[in-house]
Amino acid sequence: MNTQKIGTKCVQAGYTPGNGEPRQIPIVQSTTFRYETSEDMGKLFDLEASGYFYSRLQNPTNDLVAAKIAALEGGTAAMLTSSGQAANFLALFNICEAGSHIVSSSSIYGGTFNLISVTMAKMGIESTFVSPDCSDEELAAAFRDNTRAVFGETIANPALTVLDIERFAKAAHAHGVPLIVDNTFPTPANCRPIEWGADIVTHSTTKYMDGHGVAVGGAIVDSGNFDWMAHADKFPGLCTPDESYHGITYAEKFGQGGAFITKATSQLMRDLGCIQSPQNAFYLNLGLESLHVRMPRHVENGQAVAEFLAGHKLVKSVNYPGLPSDKYYERAQKYMPNGGCGVVSFELKGGKAAAEIFMKNLKLAAIETHVADARTCCLNPATSTHRQMTEQQLIEAGVPAGLVRISCGLEDKEDLIADLKQALDAVQG
Ligand SMILES: *Cc1c(COP(=O)(O)O)cnc(C)c1O
Repeated sequence: MNTQKIGTKCVQAGYTPGNGEPRQIPIVQSTTFRYETSEDMGKLFDLEASGYFYSRLQNPTNDLVAAKIAALEGGTAAMLTSSGQAANFLALFNICEAGSHIVSSSSIYGGTFNLISVTMAKMGIESTFVSPDCSDEELAAAFRDNTRAVFGETIANPALTVLDIERFAKAAHAHGVPLIVDNTFPTPANCRPIEWGADIVTHSTTKYMDGHGVAVGGAIVDSGNFDWMAHADKFPGLCTPDESYHGITYAEKFGQGGAFITKATSQLMRDLGCIQSPQNAFYLNLGLESLHVRMPRHVENGQAVAEFLAGHKLVKSVNYPGLPSDKYYERAQKYMPNGGCGVVSFELKGGKAAAEIFMKNLKLAAIETHVADARTCCLNPATSTHRQMTEQQLIEAGVPAGLVRISCGLEDKEDLIADLKQALDAVQG
């Protein structure tokens, strides 16, 4: 096991060049790979030998970057996907099928909520959503005989709720299923869910891991800790022979540490093809090399902005787990003692009209459907992502009309606060 600290892993893990080889991860921009004999290639198709044959399933550049992310999260294996959406879909679909059921935190990214509640429902996969703050009894009551996974986000986008990872992992394990945690917002620089009992970790690498608004991507990491064979009746895809691979049983052939990612690659990536391009994997690695340096700055700016907003007379409320007054402060201190991320949300007393004037007057912070970028950006969900909702529906969805989400970048906090201040002055008119 790699015992290096997180910063060293960000810079060096995953790739150690041999004598005379490129210092930086090479971009293997090739769809296919050459073999001497059909027999050599046949061994790859039978999963008897490991190697590359077609970049819809696997590519060397991607695998080096995935190995770095596995090291960062403390997992045994990882893979890159074309987006965060693809990562969460593959992670769930690798162990769910028609007739399965998922227990999920209700406080998750809107795209993932839609994926589970609408699209996966069309595939015959049911779900039950629970509040991240539900009681142990409510959580236990959400499970059914056909439950196959529990899902949540370390820090939810955009609600900024914090998941009690240990408690959700305990409930999942008591019911013989894994906990899948989307760790996009804190990144492994600030939280490593596997250390708290999560079995599978997913990422939208589009966010802080890339960090520069360059490439859409995702990742899945396996902890290697879930004993599939001990619950073989629940996971036939991993624990019984795969006829599309000459009767291989993944959990037997690749063990507890390799079965999940091997199956997701050789079966789901083969059939669905949602792989990240090697060029994007290269950009992602450039982002990872400075992740541990950037995250503390995002946190510093998020904290400063949250404190400034909390003290401003035009601001009704602020959500930021780093504020001692925040509902999730204690939980965030436990799981993320060095801070979570740079995303803050707040509500203006003047509602939607005030939010519009405020955002129009911002000079540094741009209006974007994005977060976790080097450049500060913001969004008013009521006039953008949630535009189709009525005032009443917005209140029920927990997205009041005057709510603004601001993702603090890497600029100097004094300039960010000055920008917010002049925009708030404009609201006051
Ligand atoms: C953005 C996001 C996703 C979706 O990722 P894409 O890369 O946009 O597909 C999933 N989960 C969280 C927490 C996100 O912030």
